[in-house]
Amino acid sequence: MNITFTEAQASIADNVGKVCSQFDDNYWSTCDRDARFPEEFVAALAKGGWLGITMPEAYGGSGLGVIEAAVMMHTIARGGGGQAAASSVHINLFGPHPIVVVGTDEQKQRMLPPIISGQHKVCFGVTEPNAGLDTTSIETFAEKVPGGYRVKGRKMWTSTAQEAHKIMLLARTKKKSEVNKRTDGLTLFFTDLDRSRVTVTRIPKMGRAAVDSNATFIDDLFIPDVDRIGEEGRGFHYLLHSLNPERILIAVEAVGLGQDAVNRAAKYAGERVVFGRPIGQNQGIAHPLAESWAYLESAYWLAMRAASLYDSGQPCGAEANAAKFLGGKAGFNAATQAMLTHGGMGYAKEFQIERLMRESMIARIAPVSEQMVLNFLAENVLDLPKSY
Ligand SMILES: Cc1cc2nc3c(=O)[nH]c(=O)nc-3n(C[C@H](O)[C@H](O)[C@H](O)COP(=O)(O)OP(=O)(O)OC[C@H]3O[C@@H](n4cnc5c(N)ncnc54)[C@H](O)[C@@H]3O)c2cc1C
Repeated sequence: MNITFTEAQASIADNVGKVCSQFDDNYWSTCDRDARFPEEFVAALAKGGWLGITMPEAYGGSGLGVIEAAVMMHTIARGGGGQAAASSVHINLFGPHPIVVVGTDEQKQRMLPPIISGQHKVCFGVTEPNAGLDTTSIETFAEKVPGGYRVKGRKMWTSTAQEAHKIMLLARTKKKSEVNKRTDGLTLFFTDLDRSRVTVTRIPKMGRAAVDSNATFIDDLFIPDVDRIGEEGRGFHYLLHSLNPERILIAVEAVGLGQDAVNRAAKYAGERVVFGRPIGQNQGIAHPLAESWAYLESAYWLAMRAASLYDSGQPCGAEANAAKFLGGKAGFNAATQAMLTHGGMGYAKEFQIERLMRESMIARIAPVSEQMVLNFLAENVLDLPKSY
């Protein structure tokens, strides 16, 4: 058993870290304050070829695995930009995965190179207001017409849709009442985000203001047949290809953010003197930070185990879900502890902790809630009866 990184994997962390170091706290707090997309950061990553890390080499990518993508996203999230930095590129990495797996050569040639170069930004339209986590109950409907589909519906929380050129969209092509299995009759499209037919309204939210999330209204959008990914009715199954990699990436992003918060807190605890000694000399301050380190580390390595299983073609659902669960909690607890370590200054924007803490909640909620992860583990690992 070998659970260390290869030289090539370690060099990904070094090189991505160098890109991140060009963007300081002031950059990220300004993006957060002004709700401004971190375009320069994304451009710097695209210039280094990082956006195609998991894409096939034949289309301009690096052809690497989820382990390498996880090393990259972990480095990005711990580099000071937290979830804002990670989310600005995250969807580009896992979102197009169904195109890689089931797209035609023509689609790969047309769709992948502009994503890799950063020319096309992608958003992901799955969640809906009336369905929530019950994805098979989505109502957005794509009606077959000559040459394509006419789509009507509503999506919720569509991140980066203010910036995106393309949308990966899940829609029903058969009503739920007309299919034998509820996971059938759903179809996946990758198409232009035609703003004459799609209205995107930003949702004011608690954190990660730099990367928008939106309520999306689709009003009679025409999608040509050539933008359908794979077979009609099989979209939900294709989406599953990208779910485990997404959970793994979210897990390591949550860990990276938490580690950044702990490192900042440890530095502060070593410098801040109260009662004539550094506050970090008090075990009430030191132990919770040490505990956070331990939880973050364990979540990280479970995520890497899941990535390793995925890359070697083995099932990794339990590990990927559990890593997302542990990473989300460990990141949130670490950010909370960093806030408490800073005392009043944790609440001041200057120290960045409040920004990280607000962002640390995201990984507990999305892309799947903690309750649904536990439902999955109870049913699939412990063989307990389904509860809903
Ligand atoms: C910042 C942010 C960005 C996002 N970006 C995107 C995006 O780009 N694209 C996209 O498609 N979606 C996106 N989402 C949506 C996200 O994936 C959903 O919010 C998440 O899946 C939870 O769904 P919901 O909000 O509809 O919760 P609901 O389904 O309404 O659930 C609410 C609560 O009830 C619990 N619950 C529901 N059913 C059960 C059950 N059977 N057993 C136990 N508990 C249950 C849930 O666990 C949860 O705690 C984003 C969300 C956020 C917050």
